[in-house]
Amino acid sequence: MAFAEEYKLFLDQCKTEREAADRAAAMARDAGFCNMDLFPPSGGTLKPGERLYTLRQNKVAALFVLGRKPLTEGMRIICAHLDSPRLDLRPDPLYEAGDLALMKTHYYGGVKKYQWAALPLALHGVIVKKGGQRVTISIGEEETDPVVYISDLPKHLSAQQSRQTMAEGIGGEDLNILVGSIPLEGEEREPARRYILKLLYQKYGVTEKDLTSAELEIVPAGRARDGGLDRSMVVAYGQDDRVCAYTALQAILRTQVPEHTSLLLLVDKEEVGSQGATGMKSRLMENLTAQLLELAGTYSSQALRQTLERSYFISADVALAYDPSHPEVFEKKNAARLGRGPVLVKYAGHLGKKDCNDASAEFLALLREVLDTAGVC
Ligand code: MN
Repeated sequence: MAFAEEYKLFLDQCKTEREAADRAAAMARDAGFCNMDLFPPSGGTLKPGERLYTLRQNKVAALFVLGRKPLTEGMRIICAHLDSPRLDLRPDPLYEAGDLALMKTHYYGGVKKYQWAALPLALHGVIVKKGGQRVTISIGEEETDPVVYISDLPKHLSAQQSRQTMAEGIGGEDLNILVGSIPLEGEEREPARRYILKLLYQKYGVTEKDLTSAELEIVPAGRARDGGLDRSMVVAYGQDDRVCAYTALQAILRTQVPEHTSLLLLVDKEEVGSQGATGMKSRLMENLTAQLLELAGTYSSQALRQTLERSYFISADVALAYDPSHPEVFEKKNAARLGRGPVLVKYAGHLGKKDCNDASAEFLALLREVLDTAGVC
């Protein structure tokens, strides 16, 4: 329960991948990790127990604790993702319709769209002005903050909507954020839209054009809460996959001098297929490993390949627990159970194990031994 209190605070502070990467770096610094990008290119001064971290593009965090064995003996790696499904503002979001000011969104990741209507929403992100000046935004989390909103139809006007499928009833193009209704005094053309622009300029010094170089994300507003009358669960946005990011962070922050070098890699873009420079389909891990070998004074192309090949890697993400209200989607005998410890998933994929990574029996045997020895359920 005490552990979960801190976890809930982390969820409250980290509603976007940028906020989570920032927080991870701050936690690393507080625990004595040095920024590896500022570390002297030593040629061999890295000692066992050395603690290093780095941030990449403000969306990826990596933490290393150097082991007793040489890097070429392989690392022990946990990877989790910091991004979560959300609604991104489009580059030219603001418009006026029916005398109201609204913003256009583009949903990101696996979003069930009907869940986002009729709900208090917050706006998080950055606006980067020409010249690189960064304006950080967080609106809707403090009790005195306003929230924004996606409207739905009242029940008595929903006859047609109710006959549609859940995917159609609220569609992607219906996810427009209601942001204002006050007309700017003396303004004849789109006065509600102009009033919002005036507010944005007054509060943040940004113009409409600045919104084109921004990453603004709409997420559910509010804090993580205890779930259940027995408080046995956490109800919050973004636990996929910050539950793994947070727990793995706590683990590596407490790691002293491991046998093999530990790496925690917290990445972005999992929800949309792990693409791009901050996703796992990039050369991120190779590059970080090469940088570490260079700092250790042992880099060679062969050393890099050997380090990667001999490493063990856990892709840490959420798994589904058996839900008695929806038993039809589970194979009950092999389903995970809520509250019974971490879940090991040998393979994911679908249909004939399509697109899956199937962990070897040998690796699973090793994990069973580690967990059983540590008394982990
Ligand atoms: Mn996930």
